[in-house]
Amino acid sequence: MVLPIVKYGHPVLRQRGAKVEAVTPEIRQLVADMLDTMKDARGVGLAAQQVGRALMLTVLDVREATDRPSTMQVDGQDVDVAARMPLVLINPEIRPTGTPVPGPEGCLSFPEIYADIIRPEGVEVRATGLEGESISFWAGGLLGRAVQHEVDHLKGILFIDRMSSDKKRELQPELDDLQAETKAALAGKS
Ligand code: ZN
Repeated sequence: MVLPIVKYGHPVLRQRGAKVEAVTPEIRQLVADMLDTMKDARGVGLAAQQVGRALMLTVLDVREATDRPSTMQVDGQDVDVAARMPLVLINPEIRPTGTPVPGPEGCLSFPEIYADIIRPEGVEVRATGLEGESISFWAGGLLGRAVQHEVDHLKGILFIDRMSSDKKRELQPELDDLQAETKAALAGKS
């Protein structure tokens, strides 16, 4: 089921996710819904906070992004990225590696807002999968960037926090409008 995506200005986006203690039927349903929602929005990643749940849980799928390559290694060996998609990462822990490089980013919680963000070029990832298995890999390219963006969400960190101050100043009117719109919609519901 496609869920509504929470936009900037909703307080849940600033909440640190709680650890997922067990893969319950409810968590499985949430993951299925997050995968549907990500696909529907044509996103490469979606964090639980973006569907209103502050949990250490994110999904990713870079298969549609054919113009921006991704690399993935398991035990130091290159693996077929497409064959590993979609990724479901429960309680992920990351260690960024390599030189910080700029790259374009957007976010489903910030419609039509884009900026170059500087992040380390790769990332070591450890997480639990949907079957309770341990997942361990290194990701680079778009996937490396997307994992870092999503794990930021799980900690309440947003890509605007990592923009240059010049870029953020330039986008401030749009950010203010989006925040006001989200807050007005929330006030209307209560
Ligand atoms: Zn995002």
